[in-house]
Amino acid sequence: MKGYVIALDQGTTSSRAIVFDAQGAVVSLAQRPFPQIYPRPGWVEHDPYAILSSQLEALSEAFAKSGLEAEDIAAIGVTNQRETTIVWDRQTGKPVYNAIVWQCRRTAGLCDQLSSEGMGAYIRDKTGLLIDAYFSGTKINWILENVPGARERAERGELLFGTVDSWLIWNLTGGREHISDYSNCSRTMLFDIDRLRWDEDLCRVLKVPMLMLPAPVPSSAEYGRVAPGIKGVEALAGVPICGSAGDQAAALLGQGCIRPGEGKNTYGTGCFTLMNTGSRSVRSISGMLTSVAWCLNGSITYALEGSVFNAGSAIQWLRDEMGLISSAAESGPTAETVPDNGGVYMVPAFTGLGAPHWDMYARGTIVGITRGTTRAHIVRAAMEGIAYEVRDLLDAMELDSGTRLPALRVDGGASVSDFLMQFQADILHRPIDRPAMVETTAFGAAFLAGLAAGVWSSPEEITGLRRSERVFEPQMDAERAEGYYRQWQRALQRALKWEQN
Ligand code: ADP
Repeated sequence: MKGYVIALDQGTTSSRAIVFDAQGAVVSLAQRPFPQIYPRPGWVEHDPYAILSSQLEALSEAFAKSGLEAEDIAAIGVTNQRETTIVWDRQTGKPVYNAIVWQCRRTAGLCDQLSSEGMGAYIRDKTGLLIDAYFSGTKINWILENVPGARERAERGELLFGTVDSWLIWNLTGGREHISDYSNCSRTMLFDIDRLRWDEDLCRVLKVPMLMLPAPVPSSAEYGRVAPGIKGVEALAGVPICGSAGDQAAALLGQGCIRPGEGKNTYGTGCFTLMNTGSRSVRSISGMLTSVAWCLNGSITYALEGSVFNAGSAIQWLRDEMGLISSAAESGPTAETVPDNGGVYMVPAFTGLGAPHWDMYARGTIVGITRGTTRAHIVRAAMEGIAYEVRDLLDAMELDSGTRLPALRVDGGASVSDFLMQFQADILHRPIDRPAMVETTAFGAAFLAGLAAGVWSSPEEITGLRRSERVFEPQMDAERAEGYYRQWQRALQRALKWEQN
């Protein structure tokens, strides 16, 4: 019975593989970390072979642990760290340079130049993105400009570009398929998200030969099959690869947010909020990004995305730099030892503020301290600060989309905090829904693959597979919550533009 699907979840610090059954339950899981390379301050690279081998090892281990046979596996789906850029030789498969990771700031200068040339409006209109070094386009340009001979080879058609999804699928299919799904294409700053094709003008501006670009494909379709003789996964030869989406899009789907107006927030080191906007590719007026989330049965779903840089990192800071708590798990119970924040507000703008404020010069601030302020008030203020940041994001998103989110689905490390989730429900005046199965990103990829392979028959089926572990209903008096939120906005003003530019 071909009722199982394997998700490859290729992340920034580790590669994971998870085997799911047809009910969406985890059968087995394996994870392999791989090294981060920091050649200079602000530069981040990965060895593309370390990405590949860690992923293959995780796949091999998860499959072995599952006790299943290759015949039981209906399909493989891929989800990945987005934007990370790899350029390799079409013949030998050898990368010409390390993978330039999404976090890498080396192309900030080129981005400033594009902005000063007035490219911002065009790029937003075509790609849904803001000009930033995150996205792949300027990273490809850097490789072609800086690796001797690379530009000439690319122009002769000898080199291929891909984000990590593309690199993995090319290798898994023995070099047969050079593709990338629309959600990953959306993060390159070269892709026209309305016409669903590479934009010739942007490729010209960024000097990227179109010959090297992967074919854009829908998120759920048979792309190819695992080639014979791939080291460690020989047993899986012939299994079809049927789904692919960037990590945030996969998590939106894995959370079952398939209708317009549904959204999720991931509480990790930072926060990523995504809202399904259906077939409308909304352009933001408040610094959100627009991407293709997925394409199913020929119909495109777009998402608005906002991110805050520091969320869970505020809890790490309380633990590691301040020593106010001894573990992240202590943060909620400590905050609950006081009935309220005692008038203390913390804006965790350690590295500036992301959406919707976009102030690189903002810095962290704690205001409202009195002689009666205790450790617990500071811990509570840090956690509340995360919830207020998410409210800022959601308010802006709802303004952009003209839709009100009925409830917020949550995942990520800090979503395990009951205190934070309850406070979030109070500040947003709506339910917070935490799933029982927390592997939402991997499940999104598995679902895309299983849909194309016939394990599931319609996108709606995912809503029946997702179970809530707990729903936090708003409990606080709405007027009181709004009073707190107004104070937060005053605290925020104190943090903005703190550094001199
Ligand atoms: P990332 O993928 O960004 O590394 P994770 O999703 O693993 O992040 O989440 C890690 C974050 O979750 C850390 O910043 C940590 O402070 C926070 N965290 C982990 N456990 C708890 C907890 N019990 N209560 C509050 N925060 C927590």
